[in-house]
Formats: sequence, structure tokens, C-alpha cells
Amino acid sequence: MEAHYPFTLPPLPYGYDALTPELDERTLYFHHDKHFAAYVDNLNKLLKDHPQYHGWSLERLMQDWAQLPEEIRQGVRNNAGGVYNHDLYFKTLHPAPAAAPGAVLQGAVDRDFGGLQELKAALRAAALGQFGSGWAWLAADGDGRLSVRKTPNQDSPLPLVPLLGCDVWEHAYYLPYQNRRDEYFDAWWRLVDWPAVSRRYEEAAGSRALYPTP
Ligand code: MN
Repeated sequence: MEAHYPFTLPPLPYGYDALTPELDERTLYFHHDKHFAAYVDNLNKLLKDHPQYHGWSLERLMQDWAQLPEEIRQGVRNNAGGVYNHDLYFKTLHPAPAAAPGAVLQGAVDRDFGGLQELKAALRAAALGQFGSGWAWLAADGDGRLSVRKTPNQDSPLPLVPLLGCDVWEHAYYLPYQNRRDEYFDAWWRLVDWPAVSRRYEEAAGSRALYPTP
């Protein structure tokens, strides 16, 4: 993802049909090429006539949106979150994922949740408990402590570092699963790219300083 404006749509890191049967080709096509693309286009349109913000990072736009002019404030909040969250979503899924985190993340999961199945249960409860559109997250603080969060709309757990996010907007699952968000969650969990999440975790403590709390 670019550091700042203008943002561009990253390619899907695998084929549209690579995540079947958990996520079907049409769902991935619409989710990436239509929904994710729209967040990128909308964010660029909102910022186009505001060059003073063209140097702001995505993370800064997501955390400091309240400082923006009123006419673009809510739009930037929604669409910067949409860009960041979807970039992370697609990068942390894999057609043939390793079944477990690396040793460092696994140690933290054991310490903070009691094991991977307990983390899954906590994340599942957050995903199913998010009323309406939003996300369930695994996030790390600057000391490496893990927590599960949920956010509405395209809000983010930043300045906690988001390691893994389950998109529970209906556009992520409605074509194959309709109202069955629980089945979608279980399918999504089977696709989690644990090596990628583990790398993010190992970088998380050092990255905290890049995302200071305003
Ligand atoms: Mn989505």
C-alpha cells in the first residue's frame, strides 16, 4: 500500500478462484474489484482538492480524521479505513495456509488467550456479536500484548496494530452464505495465513511509534 495519496488498488494476491470452496470466485471478484476499489477511488476523490493532506499516511488519515475539514471528515474516515482494512484482509488469507502461527506469535496467543482454539472462540464471538457491518480483530499493543476487538463500519483498532481482521460486512459473505455469518467465520478462519500474521506481529512492537496516539 502506498504511503500516501494517490492511493492505488493493490492486486488480489491470488486468483479469484483460489480460495474455493471457502470463498467463491464471484464473492472475491466483487469484494476486491468493486468494494475495495470503490474505497480507493472515493478516498482519492475526497483528498483530490485538499493537497495539504496528500502527504498524510493512511494510518494518520484513519486516526486524525477529526482534524480534517468537515466536508471530507466522515468520508475520509470511512474510506481510508476501507482501504487499510481490505488491504490487510486480502493479504492475510492464503489458498493453502499453514495451520498454526510461528513460535513467537503462538507463544503470545498461549499467554494471552490460553491457546489457538481459545483465540478462535474469542474472535468468533466478536465477529458474530458485531451488530450490523464491521470487523472483528486480533490486535497487538506496543508491548506485544494481544487482544480481540470489534469495530463498526470501517473503523480500525489503531493505534493498536491490527494483525488480522474478519470482515463481517454482508458483502464479504452474502453470496455463498446469506445470513449464516457463523459458517462464513469458520470458512474464513481456515484461510488465515498464519505466517503473514506472525510476521506482522513480530514487526508490531517496532511499528507502534509510527502510529502515535494523537
Ligand atoms: Mn469488505
